[in-house]
Amino acid sequence: MLKNDQLEAWDRDNFFHPSTHLAEFARGDAPQRVITGGEGCYIQDREGNRLLDAFAGLYCVNVGYGRSEITEAIAEQARELAYYHAYVGHGTEASITLAKMILDRAPDHMSKVYFGLSGSDANETNIKLIWYYNNILGRPEKKKIISRWRGYHGSGLMTGSLTGLELFHKKFDLPLSQVIHTEAPYYFRRDDLSMSEDAFTEHCAHELEALIAREGADTIAAMIGEPVLGTGGIVPPPAGYWDAIQAVLEKHDILLIADEVVTGFGRLGTMFGSEHYGLRPDLITIAKGLTSAYAPLSGSIVSDKMWAVLEQGTDENGPIGHGWTYSAHPIGAAAGVANLRLIDELGLVKNAAVVGEYFRDAMADALGDHAHVGDIRGEGMLCAVEFVKDRDNREFFEAGDKVGYRIAAALVAEGVIGRAMPQGDILGFAPPMCLTRDEADIIVAATKKAVTAVFG
Ligand code: PLP
Repeated sequence: MLKNDQLEAWDRDNFFHPSTHLAEFARGDAPQRVITGGEGCYIQDREGNRLLDAFAGLYCVNVGYGRSEITEAIAEQARELAYYHAYVGHGTEASITLAKMILDRAPDHMSKVYFGLSGSDANETNIKLIWYYNNILGRPEKKKIISRWRGYHGSGLMTGSLTGLELFHKKFDLPLSQVIHTEAPYYFRRDDLSMSEDAFTEHCAHELEALIAREGADTIAAMIGEPVLGTGGIVPPPAGYWDAIQAVLEKHDILLIADEVVTGFGRLGTMFGSEHYGLRPDLITIAKGLTSAYAPLSGSIVSDKMWAVLEQGTDENGPIGHGWTYSAHPIGAAAGVANLRLIDELGLVKNAAVVGEYFRDAMADALGDHAHVGDIRGEGMLCAVEFVKDRDNREFFEAGDKVGYRIAAALVAEGVIGRAMPQGDILGFAPPMCLTRDEADIIVAATKKAVTAVFG
């Protein structure tokens, strides 16, 4: 397929890669890899290397690579009808079917699905819907959005603001003023090491209360959060966290957006993270696992409560002034239908729970006692290993030591792809949900070798 010897040079000369050190890449100092194929949990590159992709692309190829059930559905849809829009009541069999399939799986109080293309644009939609909602309810001051430090919600103007990671703000004039951040639910990184997990949960709820008191509840519309922090470090919440947070939000009439771009459709071993942690969201963001990334598609699932107000809004103001050309793209929708069917047929939600737990236990057996491993955590088919300079005093490495990146690079040399999470020395794993125990063992053995290669 790829015969062009110049491809690598073309890549460095022409291609603006996301989340990449642009200067190092252009100079040839940063690695490049041209991917040519994938099967199951493995991908193959142009040099003929076969790598176990223990991050499922960007935690999105949940059913694994090369699934003909999905590629055939895409081909068939493309032949039949590659495109029609969804404006003014238009739809396709695929998009209408997919909306129903999503709502059949979502919490009972959800009402409708708006389709977008990426997690970022779905969250942009969510914020617009919330502002519209409060305008219709006659409370135009209630507009600020609370997010958490280390949350990840995309890299657009609003969503990059919601994202609570420094790299996504610095030099971009973000965050926008409507966004305010609160404590990350990151027990391992608590300031006061003597704090119990329960006390830390209380502290997070207290910090949220204090922020609301400072800003004024009548200025705050919503809070957004991932059920499990993803890109911020793969951090399950401390016990009781979501109950405590929701009690505060309900008291102040603040809506909740559950950003389930990573957790939706089985990654935690349950269909949704909302179900997993007892969240009662007003909006749910979905993307990645909706199509297992076989085609770009995202969605905003809207609750009954919000939907009633949106209907009132259009009765008063005319059609909703929001839409993308590619909303509910038929090819994405066909991929989504085939993907959700496949997840059910293969029992992948259960596999994520069972093999995910096996994987984390095996990682803990292999590395739990290592002098530079501070924490091993996760939920479902998510796992993170956090490295520290001194585990007794929980002293972290300097960012300049790039320990996480060096371990991730050593892991690739062992034939396995993990992800150096962007803030801290954290090696993240989010393998396809079809991972087997044997493949889990391969990841663990390679990680052990990579850690030894870096620390000796
Ligand atoms: N929300 C969460 C929780 C994510 O993890 C991501 C991407 O990783 C996004 C939103 C943004 O999605 P996208 O990259 O498709 O815009």
